[in-house]
Amino acid sequence: TENLGSRDPELARAIGNELTRQRDEIELIASENIVSLAVLQAQGSVLTNKYAEGYPGRRYYGGCQYVDVAEQLAIDRAKQIFGAGFANVQANSGSQANQSVFLALLKPGDTFLAMDLSAGGHLTHGAKPNMSGKWFNAVHYGVRQQDSTLDYDQMEELAREHQPKLIIAGGSAIPRQIDFARFRKVADEIGAYLMVDMAHFAGLVAGGQHPNPLEHAHVVTTTTHKTLRGPRGGMVLTNDETIAKKINSAIFPGLQGGPLMHVIAGKAVAFGEALRPEFSEYAANVVANARTLAETLMKGGIDIVTGGTDTHLMLVDLRPKGVTGKDAEAALGRAHITCNKNGIPFDPQPPTVTSGVRLGTPAGTTRGFGEAEFREIGELIVEVVDGLAKNGVDGNGEVEASVKARVRALCDRFPLYPGL
Ligand code: PLP
Repeated sequence: TENLGSRDPELARAIGNELTRQRDEIELIASENIVSLAVLQAQGSVLTNKYAEGYPGRRYYGGCQYVDVAEQLAIDRAKQIFGAGFANVQANSGSQANQSVFLALLKPGDTFLAMDLSAGGHLTHGAKPNMSGKWFNAVHYGVRQQDSTLDYDQMEELAREHQPKLIIAGGSAIPRQIDFARFRKVADEIGAYLMVDMAHFAGLVAGGQHPNPLEHAHVVTTTTHKTLRGPRGGMVLTNDETIAKKINSAIFPGLQGGPLMHVIAGKAVAFGEALRPEFSEYAANVVANARTLAETLMKGGIDIVTGGTDTHLMLVDLRPKGVTGKDAEAALGRAHITCNKNGIPFDPQPPTVTSGVRLGTPAGTTRGFGEAEFREIGELIVEVVDGLAKNGVDGNGEVEASVKARVRALCDRFPLYPGL
């Protein structure tokens, strides 16, 4: 009966402070979002108490009749959103969703082809320190030197040369739509599986603002917490029955034990929200806002990798201002604009410094910011970056303080979780 505040004041304070931070700062991290109160409630529910190894209707524990309802809702809604014949909603994260595909379709030592981390790929796509890079022979394609767009010619050449069993499309810092059909063509030519990791843009697919990779890929993985705006977690989709069976076995008992039923309940709520008409509006706004932000930054003399964006994210190249990603992240942070430093293609700086930042519009759009607000945010970013360009690493304290005040005013106009 004791609530969190009295049971554990120290932790309650940390959560309260995090809520205040989220309320008072503009969130531009492209992989983050703001879930609904309903998703929070489902995730903080008694479903956290339940063990439910297995799948709905075939569990290894008793008392699963109600969690079965929750998981079946999540599965059915996911299938409906993405036009999928099969969905596994138990993956605890995007990384585990990807691992399940490796476990289902590859053997240790097998070759797969994916985008290089430094070009916009993800750690789990064969980066050296990751299990995917240690246990498999990962070969990587990148982007073209001349315009930083995906190098399809290189991808095709590497596929023919290395004959991978699996080709992966998708990544964490790709601002443009991917030509899935071209990937599938080469996969078919060499007899490889095609996996699309749509973690970043899944919400845009759900909202009808991005082509659906399931029309081309043998298997699609995603996180549920980015543009899709659900709880932290992963999911695997396919229309191939044989692959579906292998994925279910790979997730459980292959990789995981008891599924996180409270998280799966949160996924069900979020997927229900994604099926509503408002979600398409949100997704369209995410894309329009990203374009506006990119244009405003370019007007302010900052480069955008590939000259713009088709999605929710952009890679900002700070070299025209002589500023590093590390310094920009810190200065923007002081002004309460949150983002992450990010290497740009062929970055001359090391990954701990970088020449860029990655910005995204999902969280701000969910909060209610429209194009006018994102224009203002772009102008504020330019002011802070110009302060760094003129004054060096410590930036311009006066400018940062005035930007912070304007950020506060903007945030106050769009209150976050007013009921909490
Ligand atoms: N795949 C891509 C493309 C991602 O961007 C991410 C998230 O960073 C993941 C997979 C991994 O997701 P998670 O952080 O849930 O393990």
